Amino acid sequence: MRAGVGGKSVLREDAGKGKGDQPALTERESMFQTTMEAAQVGIFVLQDRRFKYVNPYLTRLFGYSAEEMIEHMGPLDVVAPELHAFIDEQMQARLSGVSGHYYEISAIRKDGSAFPAMIYGAPASFDGRPASVGTLLDISAQKAAENRIRELADYDVLTGLPNRRLLRERSVLLLAAAERDKSEIAVIFLDLDHFKRVNDSLGHSVGDELLVEVARRLDTVVRRIDTVARLGGDEFIFAMPGFHTAAAAEVARRLIDVFARPFEVAGHELTITPSLGISIYPHDGQDLETLLKNADTAMYRAKEIGRNTFQFYATEMNTATLDRLLMESNLRRALAQGEFILQYQPLVNLRTGLVIGVEALIRWQHPELGTIMPDNFIHVAEETGLINPIGDWVLCEACRQAKAWCDEGLPALVVAVNVAPVQFRQPGFVEMVAGALAASGLEAGLLELELTERTVMHDADINLGTLSALHRMGVELSLDDFGTGYSSLAYLKRFPVGKLKIDRSFVNDLETDPDDWAIASTIVSMGRSLRMTVLAEGVETAEQLAQLRKMGCDMAQGYYFSRPTSAAGIAEILRQQPFVDR
Ligand code: C2E
Ligand code: MG
Ligand code: MG
Repeated sequence: MRAGVGGKSVLREDAGKGKGDQPALTERESMFQTTMEAAQVGIFVLQDRRFKYVNPYLTRLFGYSAEEMIEHMGPLDVVAPELHAFIDEQMQARLSGVSGHYYEISAIRKDGSAFPAMIYGAPASFDGRPASVGTLLDISAQKAAENRIRELADYDVLTGLPNRRLLRERSVLLLAAAERDKSEIAVIFLDLDHFKRVNDSLGHSVGDELLVEVARRLDTVVRRIDTVARLGGDEFIFAMPGFHTAAAAEVARRLIDVFARPFEVAGHELTITPSLGISIYPHDGQDLETLLKNADTAMYRAKEIGRNTFQFYATEMNTATLDRLLMESNLRRALAQGEFILQYQPLVNLRTGLVIGVEALIRWQHPELGTIMPDNFIHVAEETGLINPIGDWVLCEACRQAKAWCDEGLPALVVAVNVAPVQFRQPGFVEMVAGALAASGLEAGLLELELTERTVMHDADINLGTLSALHRMGVELSLDDFGTGYSSLAYLKRFPVGKLKIDRSFVNDLETDPDDWAIASTIVSMGRSLRMTVLAEGVETAEQLAQLRKMGCDMAQGYYFSRPTSAAGIAEILRQQPFVDR
């Protein structure tokens, strides 16, 4: 089409108007008009963002008449709304004389239906002013053929599930992503028990129908990012990114539950059970073939121990998961039954000797086991995602308590709350914090969130957004356990963090270990130069305190001042201030 356009349009305005009392067409013009009308491709001329000419093929394609389109409509009226910005850009480019490429769009007919089209536009001039000429091809048939080919190549014909080829293709991407994110992938091998008996007794077509039903049910258990593939026969594979041991065991259990109800196939009620084997990347293999082989081995062990069950490839995981699951359901119950409590540990300003804040520390009061410390359950809560509801509770409870102290007429205290990495990254975390403040009525400046370097550095750019949003709200931010992670100065400067907490491992041996002394004093001077407050954790002795003061450390926390204590205990301490040198 380009050849006919040149720099100048061959179409005169009257040529587009069709019938009427226009002057007779020259032979050359009528030849072009006949060509336009016979063309089996949509042709249009645009000026001022409106159609100046559309050929009959184009009007048929869209279901509008030429009268409706010419002068009254423009490209934006016939493409999907999400393409408007792009089409605008294209029209602008044509106006400034830039030739187009072929590009695909979703075109919209008069009846609202859509079809895929290929467009090519070229700059032209019309009545001495810039215009453009374009062609449009309906590529529905081509698209449908492409999709069908892809389907045949990638999907199992019987069940419509991805086949081995697509599984392999997706696993390349999954494995690369897991390697990058240092995350895990669970590969589950599911094989039906005694499926051959169905085929042998009821025939292959019943067997096939059963497989289709099984596939349909299995597909409902997984998330959209998981792949369920059929390897052929009665073997199904699940590739689940981001799945650690406990979560994989949970899914395996749900997959087995899928078979609890009988399947209705061709008038028969068929009961069938599965055996499952699980391998975990990177623990049990670095590539798909190894992971499949090991999941297969584990599946055979599941058959050996009586079928209708699952086994991990790594045997130690079979027992470890049990403990974990026990713990997980326990944790869930603990949250529901209100078995968590918070204790508070004073944060002391070393210049004034006054308690100016407290750190909220969670404890689990187990009905049988007594008090369980956070180091024993926070990691399970993190791995299972339970940290989100638990963390939400901590935040709300800490805010409520801080407001209660204010209302009691005690000096204003900042309450510092530990935030786990998963919790910080959950969508809506900022809103969650805002909600906790609003519900309690606590001033944002009295809430401090303690994050670790690892939390902040992971996906630093994304986190910067969350941190800035919190900072704008007026919430204080501090880096916990500082010195044990990356301690990257360059990054620190970018984040709106106001406080560094020197990890207690450096404070422990301050008097005896010159390295620890050097690290602590470096953190203090580094914090100063960045105008951050530096707090030393785990201060237990007067000697440690004296050293820290010499370094110019701003704040401290530790058993020397007070162990974590109840809210009432904190109120008592506040009444006895200052007590730094008591
Ligand atoms: P952390 O944030 O570094 O908290 C300070 C820990 O040091 C607390 O242990 C505290 O009791 C302890 N500690 C304070 N002063 C001294 C001292 O002078 N000597 C010694 N040896 N230890 C001292 P705790 O309460 O067992 O908490 C351990 C960790 O559990 C916390 O470390 C924090 O990372 C995590 N954690 C506690 N509560 C929560 C919570 O609500 N959410 C989350 N995500 N994590 C929490
Ligand atoms: Mg902390
Ligand atoms: Mg700490």
